[in-house]
Formats: sequence, C-alpha cells, structure tokens
Amino acid sequence: MTLSLYDTMSRSKRPFVPKDPDRVTMYVCGPTVYNFAHIGNFRPVVVFDLLFRVLRHHYGEDAVLYAANVTDVDDKINAKAAAEGVPIREVTERYLTAYNEDAAALGALAPTFQPRATETMDAIVAMIGDLVRNNAAYAAEGHVLFATAAFTDYGKLSGRPLEDLIAGARVDVAPYKQDPRDFVLWKPSKPGEPEWPSPWGPGRPGWHIECTAMIAESLGLPIDIHGGGIDLVFPHHENELAQGVCAGHGREYAAVWMHNGFLNMAEEKMSKSLGNVALARDLIGEYPGEAIRWALLAGHYRQPLEWTGELIGGAKAALDRIYGVLDDANRFLGGEPLTPASGEVEADVAAALADDLNTPEAMAALFKLADGVRAAIMAKDKPAVARLGGRLLQAGQLMGFLAAAPQAWFQGGNDDLKAKVEALLTERATARAAKDWAEADRIRAELTALNIEVLDGPAGATWRMKGAA
Ligand SMILES: [Zn+2]
Repeated sequence: MTLSLYDTMSRSKRPFVPKDPDRVTMYVCGPTVYNFAHIGNFRPVVVFDLLFRVLRHHYGEDAVLYAANVTDVDDKINAKAAAEGVPIREVTERYLTAYNEDAAALGALAPTFQPRATETMDAIVAMIGDLVRNNAAYAAEGHVLFATAAFTDYGKLSGRPLEDLIAGARVDVAPYKQDPRDFVLWKPSKPGEPEWPSPWGPGRPGWHIECTAMIAESLGLPIDIHGGGIDLVFPHHENELAQGVCAGHGREYAAVWMHNGFLNMAEEKMSKSLGNVALARDLIGEYPGEAIRWALLAGHYRQPLEWTGELIGGAKAALDRIYGVLDDANRFLGGEPLTPASGEVEADVAAALADDLNTPEAMAALFKLADGVRAAIMAKDKPAVARLGGRLLQAGQLMGFLAAAPQAWFQGGNDDLKAKVEALLTERATARAAKDWAEADRIRAELTALNIEVLDGPAGATWRMKGAA
C-alpha cells in the first residue's frame, strides 16, 4: 500500500517515498515548557503520533526515527522562574514532565528523540558559524542575523509575496538589520537571563536556529517529514528551511512538510497567548485519554477542528459503542478474551490512513468492523467473532485506541464507585444464595440507580456502566 501525504511546499498530495526505507526520519516542533499545555498543543502531538504509528506499521518499528523537540530557552520560561524565585531548570523540568504525562495519557508513544535547546547549544553555535562563513549571516551589535537575501527561495514554503514577508517580519525593526526580513540567530542575554559563550559574545540563540540544529544533531539533514501546526509555516519553518540550506545541508531540507489545522475553541484561535482555560490535564481528569484522542482525530488533520462539548461527548460515545461490542464478544466467547490479529491491518482502515491520514474514514471503517463482530455474535458464530474481533482490536490499536480491557473501560477509573458496586454485588449474591429475592431485587434497583448494568453469567455476576452498546 502506498502512503500519500499532503506536502505544504508543493501544495499537493504525493506518494511518500523515504530516502531510506530502513531509516525513515520525522521531526515535529514541540512545546515551549513554561506552563501546563492547552489541549490545542496536543493536536499535533496526536496527529503526528498517529503518523509515527502508521510509518512503523509500514516500515517496521525500528526503521522510523521520530524527533520532537523541546524549547527550553524562552522569555516566558525566564519570567516564570523569576516570578517563582526558582532556577529555570526547575520550571522546564516540571512542565516537561507534565507535558510528557499528558501526551502519554492521550496515547502518544514516546518519540525516539526529545532534543532540548539547552543540550544542543554547541551545535547551534557551530551552525551559526557555518552560516556566517557561507555569507548567509552577519554579526551586528552583539547580534547575529540571518541574511535573508542569501536564500533566493525565501518565501517559497509559505508562498508569500515579498511585500508580505517584509510586512510580516517581526516588527522589531532594529537599525542593525540589513533587510527587514532578516531574523535573529544569536542575541545578547539581558541581565539575569541564561547565557552561553559564542564567538560573537555571550548570549542565547533565536528560536528558529534551535530547531534546525536539533534536526541536524538528532536525525541529520535532510529529513523525510517535517511537521507542526499551520501557524509555524511562517516565519518558523520558512526560516528553518533557509538556515538548513544555507548552512550547507543541500537544497532539500525536508522532503515533505506537513501542517495540522488549528483547534478552535469558542471560535478563537487556540494559542498559548490567549489563556483559554482548556488544559489537557483538566480534560484528562474528566474524560478517558482515548476519548480525547478520538475527538482530536475526529476531523481531518489539515482542517480546523471546533473543540466543543458535543465533539468530546460524541468521541466518548463512539468508543463506548466499540468497547461494548468487544465486551459482548468476550462474554460470548467465554474465558478466552479477544487478542489483536497480526499481519496486514484491515484493508479499509489501512487505505484510509494511507490516504493522508484520513481519520474520519478510518473511524467509519472501525465501526463497520464492529458491526461485523456484532452480527457474528447474533449469528452465534464463534470463529467469526474471534477473527473479526481480533481485526477490530488490531486496527483500533494501530490508531492508538482500544488499549483498555473492555471491562475496565466501562468500569472507569472511579475506584470509589468500583468498591461500592463490588460490595453491592457481594450482598446481592448473598441474598440470592439465601433465596431472599426481595432483597436481591432491591440491591439490583440500587445498582440501576448508579447507572450500573448487572450481567449474570455462569461464573457469577459482572457489571458495566450503562451506555455500552
Ligand atoms: Zn521548530
């Protein structure tokens, strides 16, 4: 099956052909770790995690190298550390740990590499040196600037005309800039800010050069896939590309540029500066991580996604329906729970994912598989239930879903409720053993009031939350 991916540079969907199928490389711009991350920050995390999984399925688990960086040099980090009176490293460690916990809760696999700007400083300084030597950068008043005129393709990725690039250039029109489009590679640190030595004086790097150096260090340039949010196309990725090429890494920087659309909340662009109250961690407390993941993948990744209560409620209901089928299948099979199939994944799911990660279609294909399992249960066809159920598990798990045991999914993470239900079930079993049917019915009614469905079977009673299909 050929994987097709939409490339921002060529503005077209093209077959994906890695330079080396035994070493497929992908880089995605990661967070600035100065606070708990908004749900919008996790759309690229989940989208590119899905791509990472699909690539691993196609090329083999060890053949795909995925680097997602961390920006740990930033004004907001400095401000936070100063406000709290703690070392900068304490702030970045705290929020990086939280970010990785949230990503894991949303089913994201750990990237192969998670490079940090502070640990790549030698490579950053060396790359700026290369740019200066290649006449693509110049030092002025303690700063080093990229000379945009040195890169004739500047603006090609974002497709912006020259006038827009000039107007869009950050409005700090410093007198030492040769061209308003020129951007900072190195700058002096302000008093109290962290600084590193360099041939141009002590200071700190600009944001764009950090990524280019981290890619060169962790994966080597050029790479197969570069990803990030659509807001990073300009100036961040445009500048990354210019730096990489002019530092001497060849004409190509990334074979495919992929960008996810915004997550819109209350019709406003989600960005770290808005301060919308939608921290991933708060949502994870309220909904299962898989439901949040499903919601983030419910629309095609290139389209904007409206983040609403209906979206997340619908995602939970969709997973309830599939887990309900799996739960019934396990009960029907008795004893031996379903295990994921191996080998080629269900054709409809694979085809949808290979078509530029068409997740809405892949989800529809999962439902179709679930309907097939349901029909096989109705037909009392054990081999078909085991076979189709296994294919459903395999396809769902490829997308990062269905990792929970169906029983556990419906019993949720609420330990107090679990303990209460188990206690009531024990009381009910005692009442039934004593043929006290009135008491047994009363307890059943109490369980119903808790939204618990009791399922009597040969091995005793089990239970699940109502709402399962
Ligand atoms: Zn970046």
